[in-house]
Amino acid sequence: MTDPAQDTQAQIDESRIFEVTVDDDGIAVLSFNMLDRPMNVMSPEARIAFAAATDRLIADEGVTGIVITSARGEFIAGADLKALVDYHRADPNAVMGKMALLRNQLRRIEQAGKPLVAAMPGTALGGGLEIALACHRRIAVAGPKTVFGLPEVGLGLLPGAGGTQRLTRLIGVAPALPLLLEGTRLSAQEAHKAGFIDEIVSADALLETAKAWIKANPTATQPWDRKGFAIPGGGPETPENHALFRSLSPKIHAKTLGKYPAPTAILSCVFEGCRLPIDQGLQIEFKNFVSLVTGDVAQNMIATGFFAMNDAAKLRVRPKDVPKAEIGRIGILGAGLMGAGIAEVAIQRGLDVVLVDRDQATADAAKDGIAKQLDRGVARGRLTAEKKDAALGRLTASGDVSTFAGVDAVIEAVFEDPAVKREALARVLAVTGPNILCASNTSKLPITGLAEAWGRPDRFLGLHFFSPVPRMKLIEVIRGDRTSEETVAHGLDLAKALGKTPILVNDARGFYTSRVVSRYVSEGLLALQAGVAPALIESAGKTVGMPLGPLALADSIGLETMRRVRQAEYDETGAAPGPEFPLIVAMVEEHGRTGRKAGAGFYDYPADGEPTLWPGLADRFPVLADQPSLETMERRYLHVQALEAARAHLDGVIEDRGQADVGSQLGFGFPAWTGGALRWITTVGAERFAEECRTFEAELGDRFAVPDGLVDAFR
Ligand code: NAD
Repeated sequence: MTDPAQDTQAQIDESRIFEVTVDDDGIAVLSFNMLDRPMNVMSPEARIAFAAATDRLIADEGVTGIVITSARGEFIAGADLKALVDYHRADPNAVMGKMALLRNQLRRIEQAGKPLVAAMPGTALGGGLEIALACHRRIAVAGPKTVFGLPEVGLGLLPGAGGTQRLTRLIGVAPALPLLLEGTRLSAQEAHKAGFIDEIVSADALLETAKAWIKANPTATQPWDRKGFAIPGGGPETPENHALFRSLSPKIHAKTLGKYPAPTAILSCVFEGCRLPIDQGLQIEFKNFVSLVTGDVAQNMIATGFFAMNDAAKLRVRPKDVPKAEIGRIGILGAGLMGAGIAEVAIQRGLDVVLVDRDQATADAAKDGIAKQLDRGVARGRLTAEKKDAALGRLTASGDVSTFAGVDAVIEAVFEDPAVKREALARVLAVTGPNILCASNTSKLPITGLAEAWGRPDRFLGLHFFSPVPRMKLIEVIRGDRTSEETVAHGLDLAKALGKTPILVNDARGFYTSRVVSRYVSEGLLALQAGVAPALIESAGKTVGMPLGPLALADSIGLETMRRVRQAEYDETGAAPGPEFPLIVAMVEEHGRTGRKAGAGFYDYPADGEPTLWPGLADRFPVLADQPSLETMERRYLHVQALEAARAHLDGVIEDRGQADVGSQLGFGFPAWTGGALRWITTVGAERFAEECRTFEAELGDRFAVPDGLVDAFR
């Protein structure tokens, strides 16, 4: 393991991290400005340089106080997460040795006997806010995008440089806990109200106010270092706070299901650490932090939830050297659920949209529906009335395809019928010509085949949106056999322009996400067929972290749809419709239970209550005396999906592993703690994963067969 934190100070060029000046009054200003980074982040080098510089200033008798500030828009945006990746499964003692520097230094500066002020021109998050909390005063400039918070929990971590201890001691147990447990980001005004920002000033008064405070407080100390200190509102042991911990603990368990250790660790840092002197509290926090940062969950959440998500959002897979697409006006064909959803998103992102359906009335109705959606957004404070009007002003609804003249790109979202799509594309082609980008939103029709209906198949691709479009971040960008690299690049550009996170998938049946999630649904159905208790089938899906149990998901897809799709696939390709097919047919034909829309599927859906499992399941699928454990069912679900994702990856359908993980999380809610459908294999360990699959295969069948090359690829 290499660790830049072990670099000697001499190798670090301090001037590329911050500038230090001392004025005539002896007030030092340490101003962060990380020249080699797009933002100020606490990298290992920054930690070393910061410790050295503050040591120097503390030792310098001519220095009367220190202002820590930033020359950038933000104060410090957080920690450098890249530096944490090497700590995965590392020896905790070694990690402690390496990571103690900032934590120790913050304790040192707050006890130095000289006043320190954090003068924050903008956002302070995570490690940045922890530095500010170790200062004796926090002054901020408010801005529309400026936020303050400790968001570590969102990456499976906790603030490990004093955040849990100082924030709680500063504002009290009850106000601090939600901020720590939810990673809430507050505006400057909110943070001021919460009590961890002392003063809000204008940008040009920032330094001056900080210096004035230093002059007025030459011997500042922290409240917790003063005699008789008590946490505002009392410590964790007061009856009220005790009751709070008692109520939070089961809530956290219900939410994390034992899969996410960070919230429980945060709770115990506050509960145990805040009744002890701060030095012991910091020690407890640090141990908990190291245990999280060396563990799988935080590392999975960082790898996929941060790095792979960012890579996808920033189009890292985009073919290089293709000039960015100039797309200002798009045509959307088909104003149904998907077409209207895409239009709603596009106009809010500043694109001009022509939305066409078979007749004017249908198109107008879709436009009215979009207006209603935007009105709801205004009512909820998500957008202003002016923005809504401007967005609607960009939308033209029409029943005539000739209104597509002059658009830069077309997205087709008509019925899922190849003949209807081909005919519709031919009519668009006659208006626009073949040179513009043309995308189909088909859920499953091969893109390569549809491309034949477009004059230039190289300008054709799939943009597979998810429903509801305004909420779902993912788009699968489908590259057909003849789609050019330029078209791929432009498809990705369009996805980004729509504010979505695209993954690049090569054309294949079920593309990537549908193919993988259908394994989850099938596994639930097969378990039911084999006599596993329905309640166990469903609860294992939920406890492992999928958004719905497999039977509930089948109901929401619709059993009639599932039957039709499988039948059509069989008719077209001769591919066996799967051993669960008879069960689907029986539910539809024998019991007339077609799913959620009909109010009756594997569940009953009463008009005025929670869905409950259909009691008739017990008669139809007798439950075996010998039931698998919850953990076995959980692993079945994760493994069966991971295997399918691995097949898709090994077959070249999805090339980039990070993208496969992102797609699994954003597309169908594969649990974040696993890192995603492929990262789950490396989390378990490829050899062990293969071994467990073989055990399942022996018992359950060849759907658990391990593909050739899996162990080598994921070792
Ligand atoms: P929908 O039935 O709600 O809408 C289809 C619309 O297309 C209708 O308004 C219809 O009048 C219109 N239409 C049909 N033929 C037309 C033609 N020749 N010219 C103009 N308009 C025509 O369907 P949907 O759910 O919006 O699905 C549309 C496409 O998106 C399908 O290919 C579907 O597979 C795909 N898709 C759907 C979902 C989903 O969850 N519903 C998700 C991803 C992709």
